[in-house]
Amino acid sequence: MDAVLLDRLKATLEKHAPEPAKYDCPKCEDRGYTFEIKDGYEVAVPCSCLEKRQSIEKLALSNLTEVFRQKTINSFKADKEWQIKAKNEVIRYINDFLKKETNASLILCGNPGSGKTHLGIGTMLELINNNVGCVYKEYISMLTNLKQVINEEEEFIRELEKYINPRVLFLDDFLKGEVTSADRKYIYKVINTRYLKGKPMIISTEKSIKEILMFDEAVGSRIVEMTQNNIITFPRGIENNYRLRNII
Ligand SMILES: [Zn+2]
Repeated sequence: MDAVLLDRLKATLEKHAPEPAKYDCPKCEDRGYTFEIKDGYEVAVPCSCLEKRQSIEKLALSNLTEVFRQKTINSFKADKEWQIKAKNEVIRYINDFLKKETNASLILCGNPGSGKTHLGIGTMLELINNNVGCVYKEYISMLTNLKQVINEEEEFIRELEKYINPRVLFLDDFLKGEVTSADRKYIYKVINTRYLKGKPMIISTEKSIKEILMFDEAVGSRIVEMTQNNIITFPRGIENNYRLRNII
């Protein structure tokens, strides 16, 4: 075959070549794993996108996906000084977490409707986008789920692992409502295990740091230490209610 014909054939083949598949992660082609040969065997190696993939899957299961997806850092409207400050502090926290790999926790203290959950979810979304596995859990539902399986040891451990294993756990509305002595044990178990493993949390709460310390000094002091000063306190008062902002 002469060279001209060969070139023409090549050009034709290229023209009709199938579109290259588009993957979110070309490295593993969205499988979450890559395959390597080790000692003559093919082994699956978790890809750097796996944590993100699993977080998104969990979000999808939580029914909150759409609401979640809208609560980005960018969509947090900051027109008051304290809102701008809170938003900037959260952005700094995210940057430090990703660039310096600080493992610091973040706590957002404020009234209902102050926007703390929005900023917490926004933080989580940013971390997920950077392949940091995050799990969202409402504090009350964590306690309910743990209590339901208290008499079945294996089930209980499996439930507990949901809050202990994730790289980052977002506990929403921490210490909401009455706390029984049984609750106190579970709270300590989750917080202390994460503390010992150096696993960060995002916490939103209506309590102040002082109130958390008064509730339980062991729990409170661990949380304070984990935050490494990433404590955002929203000013109290109805005028700061983020949800009512457009109504008043
Ligand atoms: Zn991948």
